[in-house]
Amino acid sequence: MTDCIFCKIIKGEISSAKVYEDDKMLVFKDIEPKAKVHLLAIGKQHFKLLSEMDGERAELVKYMLMKIPRIAEENGCKNGYRLVINQGDDAGQTVFHLHIHILGGQQLGW
Ligand code: AMP
Ligand code: ZN
Repeated sequence: MTDCIFCKIIKGEISSAKVYEDDKMLVFKDIEPKAKVHLLAIGKQHFKLLSEMDGERAELVKYMLMKIPRIAEENGCKNGYRLVINQGDDAGQTVFHLHIHILGGQQLGW
């Protein structure tokens, strides 16, 4: 996806504060943090919504969910954290590349 900000981050065309990267996923700091720790986990495959899930994408999301606990702990979320996946307009999704918000480093309110 040529006009996707997160694909550009993956390709290194836009800089980001990376905290983890492997061949399948990337985790970087949110540019407008909503908590003391606010990371974004993205897969290196472009799709927008969980409703677009197929077998390969499901494997990718499962892989990310398995990696996140350690990445969160190593980045200041030893006491817990919250995962958020905004889906569509009512949720305020602004970047149309599926991403998992990792929020923590403090007591989180609703
Ligand atoms: P969402 O509202 O779930 O689509 O979240 C998109 C998130 O991406 C927001 O929290 C933005 O602050 C964040 N964001 C947008 N552009 C960048 C960027 N270049 N680097 C890091 N985070 C970004
Ligand atoms: Zn993308």
